[in-house]
Order: sequence, then C-alpha cells, then structure tokens
Amino acid sequence: MARGKVYLVGAGPGDPELMTLKAKRLLGQADVVLFDRLLDPRMLEGVKAELIDVGKNAGRHKLNQEGINQLLIEKAEAGNIVVRLKGGDPYLFGRGGEEALALQEKGIPFEVVPGVTSSIAAPELAGIPVTHRGVASSLVIVTGHEEPGKEAPLDWKAIAALGGTLVVLMGVSRLEQNVAALIEAGKSPQTPAAMVEKGGWPQQRMISATLADIAKKAKEAMIESPAILVVGEVVLLAGKLGKKKIAILRPAAQQKESAALAESYGFSPISAPAIAIAKKPLPDDLRKRLGKAECVAFTSANGVNMALHSPDLRRALAEKMIVAIGPKTAQALAMQGLTATVPEEYSSEGMEKMLRGKCRSILFLRSAQGSQYLSEGLKASGLYVDDIALYEVVPSGDPLLDELIKSANSVDIFAFTSSSTARFLIERAGAMGLEKQLRLALAAGTVAAIGKPTAKELSRLGVVVDIMPEIYTFEAMLAVLRELAQ
Ligand code: SAH
Repeated sequence: MARGKVYLVGAGPGDPELMTLKAKRLLGQADVVLFDRLLDPRMLEGVKAELIDVGKNAGRHKLNQEGINQLLIEKAEAGNIVVRLKGGDPYLFGRGGEEALALQEKGIPFEVVPGVTSSIAAPELAGIPVTHRGVASSLVIVTGHEEPGKEAPLDWKAIAALGGTLVVLMGVSRLEQNVAALIEAGKSPQTPAAMVEKGGWPQQRMISATLADIAKKAKEAMIESPAILVVGEVVLLAGKLGKKKIAILRPAAQQKESAALAESYGFSPISAPAIAIAKKPLPDDLRKRLGKAECVAFTSANGVNMALHSPDLRRALAEKMIVAIGPKTAQALAMQGLTATVPEEYSSEGMEKMLRGKCRSILFLRSAQGSQYLSEGLKASGLYVDDIALYEVVPSGDPLLDELIKSANSVDIFAFTSSSTARFLIERAGAMGLEKQLRLALAAGTVAAIGKPTAKELSRLGVVVDIMPEIYTFEAMLAVLRELAQ
C-alpha cells in the first residue's frame, strides 16, 4: 500500500476561528487525527477521521513522546493521511521538530503547517502587544518549565539585561522560582508583569502586578495551566487595549443574546447565570380573572414567553389593553402578534404612572417576586389590582456561577439585571465561603445596576453601585459602561 503522509499542524491558541484555513482543510481530508488534550473540541466538530487523544497534561503523560512518534509512523505506514494537531505553532515548544525528525528517519513524507502561537496571541488577546514603538523593541520567548539536567539552563542574567519583553511559556508550576531568578539576575522587581491564562478560550483571564508580586497574585487567583507569563513595560498597555470583562448574571436562556450584545459593545462577556426561572402552573380561574381586568400588564419577556404558551390565553389577551414594562417585554409580545403600550420610563414607577387614568382594573402577569409595591401603589389610588405569579426566580445552581465567584477578582464589571441576581450571587459566594473575596472584587470592579429596584437591593446588601443607566435596559447599561471605559 502507498505510504501515507503526516501533517504537523498548528491549531492556534484555542479559539477555533484562529486556526488557519490550511489546518481546517487538512482536518477535512485526514484519515487520522492525533490531537492534544487541551484543544477546543469545536475544532474537531464534523471531522470524520479517526480521532486519537494523545494529550499530555503537566505531569500526567498519556502517551510519551516516543509513543506518539511511533503512532504517527504506524498510521502513516498504513497509508493514512495523518494530521498531528498541536496547540499554537508546532515548532515552538511543541516538540514538533522531534516528531518531524522521527518521521524523516523512517522516510515518511511530512509537512509542517504553522499555527498562531499562544506566546504572541495570548498576550495580544489580553491587550498586550509584545512589541511596541518606544516601549519594547525585542521579544524573548523562553520555557519556564526546564527539566533540570535535560536542557541547557536559561541564562537569566542575559535575559534580564536585554530589556524588551519576556514571555515565559509553561510558566505556572515554577512561576515563583523563575520570578525570583529574574529578580536575582537584576531585573527590577517593579517591572510590570502579567499572567494570561487560557488566552483565546472563553475562560480567558489575565492578572497583572509588578514582577515582585505576580507569583503571589497568581496563586491567589488560582491561575492554572495553560498560562503565559509576560514581563515588561508593554503589560501596562493592557489597561488601554484590553477588553473589559463583564459578568452577565442573567438566566441561562438569556446568556447567548446578552453575550453577543456585550461583545458588540466591546466587552468580553463571562457567562455566569445567578438566577433561573422556575415556571408555575397557570391558575384554573385564569379566564375569570382575566375577564375582570381592563388591562393586562407584563413586567418581563420571561413572563410573556411563559404565559403565552397557552393559546387560550393568547386569544383572550388580544381583546385587552396590554402594557409592557419596557421594549424587550413589548418585543416578546410582538413576536406573539400582540401589541403593547410601553411607559416612558421602563420601571415599575413608570408603569404605575402610565396605568393611572388609563385602566380601572389591572391584572399583572409576572414573577412571584414581582415588585409588590407596584400593586400597593395602584391599589392605594383606588384601582382594582390582581396578580398572577407565572414563575419564580430561583438560584441557578449553575457551575459557571461558581467559576465566576472563584475568579471574581479578575472581573472588571458586574452587570446586575435584577435584584435577584444581586441576592443570589452574594448568597452563593457565602455558601462557598468566598463572600469576603467577592465583596472585595465588587468594590474593586464596576458595579452596574439595570434600574432602581436593583440598585436599591444592592445598596441593601452593602454593595456600592457605580452606574445605573437612565433607560432601564441591558443595552442602555452597556452603552453607559462603554462611555465610562473610554
Ligand atoms: N506550541 C505552543 C506552545 C506549547 S508549550 C504555542 O505555540 O502556543 C505549552 C505552553 O504554551 C503552556 O504551558 C502555556 O504556557 C502556553 N499556552 C498554550 N496555549 C495557551 C493559551 N491558550 N493561553 C495561554 N498560554 C497558552
């Protein structure tokens, strides 16, 4: 049988869109793909080849290098097109050169396909250009994970003397020793430094400090591999060029849309649902209660979507005057073919103002925790008010929220879209024993409240609110945050 061929392919730092066109094409043509554990599974979506995980996780070797070389040879000798997919670029600390030599020795055709290396891309995605006019005109890339005795030792003195930017790969496990060696070799302890973790992944994080403090801070933030240490004045540019990270605490179903919106405003969204929506059954006497009301009021898009599952209700509603608290709620109604009136101010108060004089009897279809004072105020002005709880807002129990709480100190902005998001975030942090850290992170970051009740609840919880938009929508909140960042 004809001999196969091996492609040593760089996959880039993590984001599947940062793979090259050639990498993508070869994956489509491969019979066998050998890949590393840390690669994003989306890269292999739709790939028909035999997929072999030869991943190595620091310390836990699955297949050693010799084993990988052997497997590449076997698969190629069996006549396969083999793609050896490697993180970043195959020839930068990727042992791609060794694999190439092993193949050459056996006379197996191979080709290397360069990839976007994390050593440049990870700092870049965190807002750090590795060189910058007037700031750094050289870049040194070293491994931080020297195996004693195996490699020629790094000349820290020469590295420290060079100035420019230093990037240390495989830099987590020996961070403390490496930083100490650099300082010992004469690098100023005040040099700016950063750790970029999982650059280009959805969970990308960066922490920065002085060289003297970076190891301590990385430990506190529980920075894990893969991460890169960047040392040099260029780190300071991240303050200007880095995207601000915004934690979105809305229910899971709203995350995708909210994240896209946050991205379009130049933020880097972190999905962390603090709340979930638990549907409640509609009451049996719904029709009767609806009959008594002139107006029907919705206070959230969630409420609309739940209520209108019932076609019966949709028909009955078509005859009513419908009021929506804001444009998103009105939009959800419009999707169901129902037209709603929206108050000038998108809040309970705005709604109350609008309803007075327009309706004598109102039925609210909303969450069980809906703003009770709204009904009270309207009742006090002599209106007939009825209330049906469509759903309950409950703690999400989402592991993404726990992740956020653990790394809260790397979050720039906390976006609170309801009082329940505030309450459940703090409650969850308390249950994890991390309330103090969370409160410190809230104090250091920007706290945004979508509207008055949310701001009020945050204050009650002892959290200082930094911004609240004039119009109470998520998008208006993002607009204010963007203005603030500029
Ligand atoms: N060939 C790869 C590097 C392999 S060495 C490349 O060109 O990117 C593995 C090291 O690369 C990790 O220990 C870490 O320091 C770094 N690394 C790889 N991917 C990374 C990422 N997405 N974010 C931060 N560092 C990463």
